[in-house]
Amino acid sequence: NAGLGSWPERRLRISPNRPAIWFEGATTTHGEFAHRVRRAAAALSALGVGRGDRVAWLGANHPAALETLYACGQLGAVWVPVNARLTPPEVRYVLEHSGTSLVVHGREHGTTADTLRAELPAVRTWVAGETPLAGGADSLDWQQLLADAEPQPRDEPVTPDDPCLIMYTSGTTGRPKGAVLTHGNMTWSCINQAFGLDVTPDERTLGLAPLFHIGGLNGTVNPTLLRGGCAVLVRGFDPPATLAVIVDQRVTSFFAVPTMLDALSRRPDFGAVDLSALRTIGAAGAPLPLPLLRTWLDRGITVQQAYGMTESAPAGTMLDSVDAVAKVGSAGKPQFFVDVRVVRPDGTECDPHEVGEVVLSGPNIMAGYWNEPEATAAAIVDGWYHSGDAGSTDEDGYLYIRDRYKDMIISGGENVYPAEVESALLELPEVLEVAVIGVPDPHWGEVGLAVVVPAPGSDPDPDRLRAELRTRLAAFKVPKHVEFADELPKTATGKVRKPDLRSQYVPQEE
Ligand code: AMP
Ligand code: MG
Repeated sequence: NAGLGSWPERRLRISPNRPAIWFEGATTTHGEFAHRVRRAAAALSALGVGRGDRVAWLGANHPAALETLYACGQLGAVWVPVNARLTPPEVRYVLEHSGTSLVVHGREHGTTADTLRAELPAVRTWVAGETPLAGGADSLDWQQLLADAEPQPRDEPVTPDDPCLIMYTSGTTGRPKGAVLTHGNMTWSCINQAFGLDVTPDERTLGLAPLFHIGGLNGTVNPTLLRGGCAVLVRGFDPPATLAVIVDQRVTSFFAVPTMLDALSRRPDFGAVDLSALRTIGAAGAPLPLPLLRTWLDRGITVQQAYGMTESAPAGTMLDSVDAVAKVGSAGKPQFFVDVRVVRPDGTECDPHEVGEVVLSGPNIMAGYWNEPEATAAAIVDGWYHSGDAGSTDEDGYLYIRDRYKDMIISGGENVYPAEVESALLELPEVLEVAVIGVPDPHWGEVGLAVVVPAPGSDPDPDRLRAELRTRLAAFKVPKHVEFADELPKTATGKVRKPDLRSQYVPQEE
C-alpha cells in the first residue's frame, strides 16, 4: 500500500507510544490509532466496501472522520467528506452524484441520516459511537462495529494514482463539483505543508477548521499525523472553548480562516491567556486583514499567510515565518513541491506587478472533478490548474492575491457561488429576477447581497425570503442582505451587469 492508508502502519512501526489524537479529554496513541484504523477497515470490508467504493463522512470534527478516511485508504476505497452545514437536499445531491450509499455520521446528524435513508433506500448510516442528539435511532453503532472487528493488517495494492477522496466544492454553474484527490495528491500536499510550517513530532496541532474542508484536513492535521505529532481535535468553533483548549492542551500550531482568528482575538480574555506554546498559525481561504495579522504577531505568534484550494489539496503558496513581517499582505512563495505562476490570457507569464490569473502545477493537483470531464478540461490546461484568482508577484517572487475572476463570494472561509443562490431564489414565486453579489463584511470578510426584482403583484418580505432559502441552502449561502429593485442593469445580450450593481450597492473605498 503506497497510499495514505499505510501511514498509521508506518507510525505503528516508528512511534507507537506517542500521542496521535486528543479528543474531549481522551488521548489515542499512534499505535492505538493504527489498530482502530485496522478495525475500521475490517468493518467496512465486512460491509462489502472494496476498491473504488465510496464511503461518506458527515459530521463535526471527530476521530471517526480520520478513522474512516484512513480505513478507506487501506481498502482502496474513496472517502467522501460532506460539508456538515449542508441541508438534507444538498447532502443528497453529493451522495447521489458521488454514488455513495454508506454514510458514517456525527451525533448532530441523526435527523439528516433519517431523511437520507427515507429518500435513498440504498443508503445505510452509522452514527459515530454516540447517542444522536435528535433522530438517528435507526443508524447503526460505528463504535460497536469497530469493537466487533479484528485488527488485522491488510495490504491492498493502492498506488499514488488511486483516488483517496472526493471533496465537493461549490461550482460556478451552481452545482457543487467533486474534486478527486489521489493518494499521491494527499502525500505531496502534506509533505509541502509539513515543510512550510516546520511540523515536528512534538507538534500539538489544533484541529479546529472542519475536516470536511481541505484546509481543516490537510492544513496541519494530516501533516502532523504524518510527522508523528498529535492532532488536538475540537468538534467545532466555539471561541471561548477553543481558546481554553489552545491553552490547556499547549497547542503549538493550527490552521484557521481569517474569520476564526478575528473571533478568537476579540475574546475579552485574549490578552491575558497563556499562548506561550503556540508557535505558528497557517491562515488561508480568504485574504488576511493586516490589523488582524498584527494582533497575533504582537503576541509573538507567526501567522503564515497561505494560498491554496481544494483542487490543490490545498498546497499552493505560503509565507515563510521569517518573512511574515517584511512581506506582510503577501501569500508567500510557491511551496516546495508546487509551481505557481501568474499568467496572461494567452498563457505567457506576467511581469512583476502585472496582474494575471494564478495557475498551479505539481503532484498535489487533483486528478479532476468526479464525472465532470468538461469542467476538468476547463480547469486543468496542459497540466496547469487555473484558479480563477487574480494575482501578481513582486520582484522577489512573492505572490499577492488581488481579486477573483470567478464570480465567487468567500464568507467566513466558505465559498458561495452566486449562481447557486440565484437559482434557489428564482424558485420562489415572489422572485421575478435576481442577482447576488458579495459585499464587504468586517467579520465574515464578505457576505451576499441579493438584488431582487419582485414578481408582479407580490410584495416579498426580506426575512421571509431568507427563511425560505434556509430550507434549501446551507445557512452560509443565504444572503445577509436583500434589496429590491424595479429592474436589473443588463448588457445588450441580456446578462446582468454585476459591476454596475457593485458600484451601486458596495460602499466604494478610496
Ligand atoms: P477552497 O477550495 O474552498 O479552499 O477555496 C479556494 C479559494 O479561496 C481560492 O481559489 C481563492 O479564491 C481563495 N483563497 C484561498 N487562500 C486565499 C488567500 N490567502 N487570499 C485570498 N484568497 C484566498
Ligand atoms: Mg475556502
